[in-house]
Amino acid sequence: MPELNLVLLGPPGAGKGTQAERLVEDFGLRYIATGNMLREAVREGTELGRRAKEFMDRGDLVPDELIIAMIKECLQAPDATRGFILDGFPRTEKQAEALDHELHEMGRRLAAALLIDVSEEEVVRRLSGRRVCVKGQHNFHVDLDPPKHADRCDVDGSRLVVRDDDKPEVVERRLAQYREKTAPLIGYYEQQGILRRVDGSRSADAVHDQIRAILASLRLESELPADEPAERAGGHADG
Ligand SMILES: [Zn+2]
Repeated sequence: MPELNLVLLGPPGAGKGTQAERLVEDFGLRYIATGNMLREAVREGTELGRRAKEFMDRGDLVPDELIIAMIKECLQAPDATRGFILDGFPRTEKQAEALDHELHEMGRRLAAALLIDVSEEEVVRRLSGRRVCVKGQHNFHVDLDPPKHADRCDVDGSRLVVRDDDKPEVVERRLAQYREKTAPLIGYYEQQGILRRVDGSRSADAVHDQIRAILASLRLESELPADEPAERAGGHADG
């Protein structure tokens, strides 16, 4: 069975983390969320973590080479042999090229780039309605998952607030960043023939079903004998 190496693309609020969790369960993939990975490496004080921390402490972006070195470490772990899901990287075309290069060196390649497509209006509606409690970090949404009492956590009764990340001006900045730097990756992977679009405006269950159908068809494609492509098998008389 070939490796299922995936990149997840989509604007903030598209539900990438939720879908990744489910795919990890379905297929036993290694989930590499670069944001979490960086924080973990820093907390554990690994060599790469210490180097990354120097940049973070100065308020600088962690250089691509360092992030790629961390990803490589993850990929060499035994739990990544069936494949992986990358979330949060690559964010730019330059990073995508660097990733391709590293994978090639390791004799691996991406099976698909899954784009969870959601309109900006929907992103704003989802993120601006999110509330988190100050005590236990429990999540709510004013429309989609409202608390029983306005502005109070159902679990511990503490106050509900808007996360800094979800404030309108921050959401607008994250969307602008996505539009400018990450959206071009769609064309990059389209050209490679590995982009797969998923309708992210639907429920998490429906999105999950669509992704599973896409991955099933990928596996069928990869299992076709190399010397007998599907087009030719269908009645092209050679002799
Ligand atoms: Zn709470």
